[in-house]
Amino acid sequence: MEKRELVIIGAGPAGLSAAIYGRRAGLDVLLLEKGVPGGQINITEEIENWPGVEHATGPELAAMFRSHAEKFKTEFRDVDVSAVEVRDGTKVVLTNKGEIEAEAVIIATGAYFRRLGCEGEAEHIGQGVSYCAVCDGAFFEDEEIAVVGGGNTAVEEGEYLTTFASKVYIIHRRDEFRADRAAVERALSNPKIVPVWNTVVEKIEGDGMVENLVLKNIKTGEVSNLPVAGVFMFVGQSPHDEPVRGLVEAAKGGWIKTNDEMETSVEGIFAAGDVRDKGLRQVVTAASDGAIAAMSASAYINEQVHLRSVLLDPEHVTALFYSSIDREQVKLSDEVEAMARDAGKKVALVDGYKNARMVEKLGLPSLPAMVELASGKTVKMAPVADASAAGTFLK
Ligand SMILES: Cc1cc2nc3c(=O)[nH]c(=O)nc-3n(C[C@H](O)[C@H](O)[C@H](O)COP(=O)(O)OP(=O)(O)OC[C@H]3O[C@@H](n4cnc5c(N)ncnc54)[C@H](O)[C@@H]3O)c2cc1C
Repeated sequence: MEKRELVIIGAGPAGLSAAIYGRRAGLDVLLLEKGVPGGQINITEEIENWPGVEHATGPELAAMFRSHAEKFKTEFRDVDVSAVEVRDGTKVVLTNKGEIEAEAVIIATGAYFRRLGCEGEAEHIGQGVSYCAVCDGAFFEDEEIAVVGGGNTAVEEGEYLTTFASKVYIIHRRDEFRADRAAVERALSNPKIVPVWNTVVEKIEGDGMVENLVLKNIKTGEVSNLPVAGVFMFVGQSPHDEPVRGLVEAAKGGWIKTNDEMETSVEGIFAAGDVRDKGLRQVVTAASDGAIAAMSASAYINEQVHLRSVLLDPEHVTALFYSSIDREQVKLSDEVEAMARDAGKKVALVDGYKNARMVEKLGLPSLPAMVELASGKTVKMAPVADASAAGTFLK
């Protein structure tokens, strides 16, 4: 099977940033993408909030990201990833063109906004139909716009949009919002917000840009027109978590949980960008996640390679696991090293504090502890409280 150091799934802003950082850290990086590199920014009309680039179209920015990753000789591969599996501790990425073994994997598969599905929606995406208030709100200064939805996102983003728009109609199919009471009260007391109850959007009209919504009251059946310059759909967003669904821990809705290092619940699998459980899903936060994930993956790979060569590959090895943040244990490690040298033996000293996963893998109950391994298999282990206990273990 093909073996690679770092496999990144998804070449959006998160995956491309991870590739740049991974390559610059000297890793062998394989970037897997089933569509067009750039991800969601390929369907973004204009971007004005990527620092350093005052204005670009989405495809222009996507091309810049891609060529930057290519400059550092990232290998791209056009494949669809169906799953990531862990087989006997080895991470395997399953694609429609074969399986790849990876030291570390970064999931950067992004997310998608659910479409409303009405007539005229698809043609007007980026032409007045938007799914992101932070991205596009500023394009509607002093205009009348509409929001579709009735949950927290619709109500909160609707209120945010009043910063720019002169009027925000919130179109909801029920006669009350599903959002938190505080958010609803704030929105309803905002004079720029006009709720439109019991109503659905049947059609979006406009020659080029959005000009009009055809609405239908689902209680009375009455059809009416609402002239607006834009419409924001907040009918839900979902992650592309399919390849790791059930493997890594996720929040409600499938959003992948990570810590600040972008580590998921599975060792050696990291997640970055919109697929993560987080607050702000934007290009800048995806890129930041990608950078962190790559550096964490690099540290993980280095640690694994080092530990494998020191502990798991040799036919026979004795090791002391100690904690580098405990002064007594650091002293003990010096004593054990000297004792082993005097006895003509070799002891590998491993910082168990930094390599907690290896401590767990070997089943060491506490630190400090000594372990004897034969080709990666534990022969003997014991906690060692002091130098004399270590000496007994070494005999
Ligand atoms: C219309 C629109 C306008 C936006 N405007 C802005 C804006 O102005 N400013 C801003 O900062 N943000 C904006 N955003 C949000 C921004 O695009 C996202 O936050 C960002 O792209 C997330 O990057 P990502 O790399 O996490 O995921 P994505 O961009 O979603 O990239 C994920 C990639 O993974 C690939 N992939 C998924 N599953 C698989 C698989 N199984 N196998 C192989 N490949 C896979 C996908 O094809 C995709 O290319 C906008 C989004 C949209 C939709």
